[in-house]
Amino acid sequence: MVIVGAGLAGLTVAETLRAEGYAGPITLLGDEPHGPYHRPPLSKGYLLGETQEAQLVMRAPELLAKKNITLKVGTGVTAIDRAAQRISLADGSTLDYDGLALCTGSRLRPLPLAGADARGVFGLRSLADSRAIAAALETARNVVVIGGGFIGLEVASAARKKDKAVTVLEAADRLMARVVAPLISRFYLDLHSGHGVDVVLGAMVSELVVADGHIAAVKTKDGREFPADLLVVGIGILPNAEIAQAAGVECSGGIVVDACSRTSDPAIVAAGDCTARRMADGTFRRLESVQNAVEQGKSAAAALLGRDREFNAAPWFWSDQYDVKLQMVGLTAGFDQVVTRGEPKGNKFSTFYYKGGKLIAIDSLNQPAEHLTGRKLLDKGVSPTPEQAADIAFALAGLLG
Ligand SMILES: Cc1cc2nc3c(=O)[nH]c(=O)nc-3n(C[C@H](O)[C@H](O)[C@H](O)COP(=O)(O)OP(=O)(O)OC[C@H]3O[C@@H](n4cnc5c(N)ncnc54)[C@H](O)[C@@H]3O)c2cc1C
Repeated sequence: MVIVGAGLAGLTVAETLRAEGYAGPITLLGDEPHGPYHRPPLSKGYLLGETQEAQLVMRAPELLAKKNITLKVGTGVTAIDRAAQRISLADGSTLDYDGLALCTGSRLRPLPLAGADARGVFGLRSLADSRAIAAALETARNVVVIGGGFIGLEVASAARKKDKAVTVLEAADRLMARVVAPLISRFYLDLHSGHGVDVVLGAMVSELVVADGHIAAVKTKDGREFPADLLVVGIGILPNAEIAQAAGVECSGGIVVDACSRTSDPAIVAAGDCTARRMADGTFRRLESVQNAVEQGKSAAAALLGRDREFNAAPWFWSDQYDVKLQMVGLTAGFDQVVTRGEPKGNKFSTFYYKGGKLIAIDSLNQPAEHLTGRKLLDKGVSPTPEQAADIAFALAGLLG
């Protein structure tokens, strides 16, 4: 079994294959210089020096060796020959496979402006990126973040904790607009503004001003100019699907998989950020989360062993900004009713999203127990009425039976 991409999804495939009794050779290939590591702290505790590099490591090399999983780092896979069931590596060698798992993750969406490669301009995807931003934060005075999504706002929060002047430029008319309701966007606008961040909505970035090869300012279409000696660009990611596509594996904004992580090639599975899952209604769903990498990884391993393991749990995700932990479960798309449970002013509340009277998602702020109950409600398809959800005296867990 050969796994391309030594991230969370790749590691999960490898370890699940072993746990499920597969005794043959497993090779895990990654093009980064490290073995699998946790990415979420890269925009949170690691940036602040609260999480140490050793804590990012997912598995010690001895543990992988004990499981007889061969990890090869610094090894990029360049092509797949599906007919021969053989992959080509960047060093010119090849490797044959019986089963292949593509867990290639994603990369940063580039900012299409001159100056995006200037010194002081960073994206945040890898340990190397986070190291570089953490170092630049030490001396930076004016931090500008392009993109008011999770990563951009987490970086803004970290930079404020380090007492830097921070500006967030967001093109949309609200923060995290892709995933949360206006009420939550408003809460986060107030949270960041309250911590001294200058959040600029509707900001169309038009020019990067570079002086002596270093970022100096960011201009917006409306003529405003924001001084910057550190610019972090957080405008989303693109799935690494090119080697699959070049080999003729079906791709549509990611490597197309079914609920069991199978691709259009029976010998190839895919898991994690690089995938686009075909849903029952023919649409494709891309998730970029720890849960998705783990669950699809487990399904992919099962599929390689000829077993069906559908991943149908409600999607969940989290984000830490200042002292607020946001935990989301379900997908908010198409909601037509929102109910608040708890007190937004106390930074402790949940928002329940309904579509046609049915609960579809919950965002919880500093309410970890409610988030866990919410996951169970959504997984079981149990829908409290909006009145029950809004009533903090009503025990939602009681509906679970
Ligand atoms: C800063 C940051 C914060 C995040 N915070 C959260 C969070 O709070 N909660 C949450 O749920 N999720 C969070 N995520 C998302 C989560 O980390 C990802 O969804 C998860 O890492 C996806 O795992 P993966 O294995 O699919 O991809 P990756 O972790 O990207 O791993 C893929 C690996 O494959 C390698 N690769 C690619 N192409 C090749 C090739 N051709 N040959 C060899 N190797 C290759 C890549 O270099 C990479 O090492 C965060 C991500 C980032 C970057």
